[in-house]
Formats: sequence, C-alpha cells, structure tokens
Amino acid sequence: MLIDNHGRKINYLRLAVTDRCNLRCFYCMPEDGLNWLSRKELMTYEEMLQSCTLLVKMGIEKIRITGGEPFVRKDIMQLLTGLSELPGLKELTITTNGVLTAPFVPELKKIGVSSVNLSLDTLDANRFFTITKRDEFGKVVGTMEELLKHGIEVKINAVVMDGKNTQDIIPLVELTKELPVSVRFIEEMPFNGEGHVYEGLKWDYIRILDEIKTKYPSIEKLPDPAYSTSYNYHIPGHHGSIGIIAAYSRTFCGTCNRIRITPQGSLKTCLYDNGVLNIKDLMRSGISENDLQAKLLDVFNHRAKDGWEAEKNRNVNDPAHESMATIGG
Ligand code: SAM
Ligand code: SF4
Repeated sequence: MLIDNHGRKINYLRLAVTDRCNLRCFYCMPEDGLNWLSRKELMTYEEMLQSCTLLVKMGIEKIRITGGEPFVRKDIMQLLTGLSELPGLKELTITTNGVLTAPFVPELKKIGVSSVNLSLDTLDANRFFTITKRDEFGKVVGTMEELLKHGIEVKINAVVMDGKNTQDIIPLVELTKELPVSVRFIEEMPFNGEGHVYEGLKWDYIRILDEIKTKYPSIEKLPDPAYSTSYNYHIPGHHGSIGIIAAYSRTFCGTCNRIRITPQGSLKTCLYDNGVLNIKDLMRSGISENDLQAKLLDVFNHRAKDGWEAEKNRNVNDPAHESMATIGG
C-alpha cells in the first residue's frame, strides 16, 4: 500500500495519453490549439504499460485514461486492453469528450471498463458549438446513449462557466430524472493554456448548489464515498444523481488519493504542482526498476499538503500557461 507523507493512501492514477484534441473547449485550450507534443516527446504505449505495471505493484488500484482526447490517439484500444490485463488493477476508467467514442463502446464493455466520464457542458447544440468551437453535439449524445445501452456507468462532467452555460445547470440536473446518470458540475480552474483570461471563480460549489435549489429545494445530500472529490446529491424520484466538484476551492485535498502522469511522462502528485519527476526520461536513460521505484517512493514522501501549497511551490509563472489537456485533467 502506498501512503504519502501526510498519511494519505495513494491508489489512483490518471494517465493522460495525448495532449491533442478534436474540440477546443475555451476553458481548456486556445482556439488554434496548443504547441502539440512531437511523437518523440510522448510516452509510448510500452512505456505507459511498463510504468503502470510498476505503479500497480506498488499500490495503484484504479487507472483513469484521459488526455487531451484519448480516442484521437491511434490504436488506443491496444493500450486499454493491455491495462485491463494488469494483475492487481481493480478498475480501469476513461474520461472522454465522446466525439469518437461510440464505435468503441462494445469493446470497452468487453475488456471490463465499467464507468466512463463524458464531458458535456450544455444540452443546447448552439451553446455546445460556442464552448467547444466544433459542431459535434450529436455525436456526444450518441456516445452517452451507446454507453447506457451497454450498461456502462455514465458520469457527465460539466464545467460551470459564468456567462457561458449557467442556464444549463437546471436542464443538466433534469437529465437525472429519467436517466441513471451522474451529472457532476465542476468549478472552472485556471488551466486553460491561455485560451482566455481567468477572471477568478464566480461559480463556486456553494453557488452551484444554490442554483439547483431554486428549482429543486428538496435535493438531498448523499453520503460521499471515501476519497470522493464530489459532494453528492439526489433529487427524490430521479433515477440519477448529482455531484459538485470544488476543483478550484480545493475542499478535497485532505483525502486526496490520486496522482497524474502527463502525456510527456511527467508525474504530478497534485493537480496544482508543476511535475515532480519525469518517468519517461528516467526510463529512456535506462534506470532499473528498483531505482525508479525508489525515486517514486521519494516523491510520494514529499507530497504537498494541499493544492494551495503545491501551487505556491510551482517554479513557473501561473497555471493558465498549462492546459488541462497536458496535465491529465
Ligand atoms: N478530452 C477529454 C474530455 O474532455 O473529457 C478528457 C480530457 S479533459 C482535460 C478532462 C476533464 O477536464 C474534462 O471533463 C474537462 O471538462 C475538464 N477541464 C478541462 N479544463 C478545465 C478547466 N479549466 N476547469 C475545470 N475543468 C476542466
Ligand atoms: Fe479537448 Fe477535453 Fe480539453 Fe475539451 S476539455 S479541449 S475535449 S481535452
């Protein structure tokens, strides 16, 4: 079991497999994209599998594949299948924008992916275009339907943005009436690759809940599972549930069980740090498994107490230079 210097169990890895994406969500990256990583800078699938094998041996039990958009990377099923066969791994999940995902759903089911986070910030096709700069709303909804049809749990991630989609909060909540989905509202964070100026948080978790209560005053609090990053709720009579993720307010750091690996192989022990070890570079320099394990244990032993401390310790200017697509959102 992996325990950090603050007594927190580490058992969850988020692995970003690419920085590239087929959408341009304005809160994540600029309209003309990022300075994409070259093939050489990216971790190969072999390197990913090798590092995940070691991390699972050390105590990681759950891996989430993210990006960028995982399904724009060629042969992604090859990696997913390899990971699904790792002895000791209890859960393999994916976060996707759903544009290219639908045709892969039967295979995902077959290899044991039981839950998928689907990003969808609005139920209005025009607003979807305004937010993502691409006309792909129909494909995302198609993916949601396909996942539900195959009995894969669906969690919808919606970033709440002042002046952009707050009118979607209630319609998104209403999705939970008939569908067994969990709709999770996420506070907007400053990681937008300078796609826009981050003006500070106007919609925090308290305001989001207040907005839901205007229409649903009977909303009930659910118990939050261990290590949950969301405050969870249920509306009586609805099939699905609601979560609110205080990603900017950082109320969950005290129980944080997660680490991240970026597409270029940098290990982050906090979303707000600037990378604490480059696993890919170490592997390419021929490090032995024992030495890599020792280095990993060392960084897990020097983990920031919370996101505020990690942000203060960054040695680059401000988080907006980074995009969620390059840090394993
Ligand atoms: N492309 C995939 C997707 O959109 O689901 C996976 C990668 S994306 C970076 C992962 C999650 O990060 C998405 O749910 C997205 O909404 C969220 N995200 C991106 N930028 C964000 C920001 N600035 N603040 C809060 N959440 C953000
Ligand atoms: Fe792409 Fe996901 Fe970022 Fe949107 S949030 S631009 S879909 S990586």
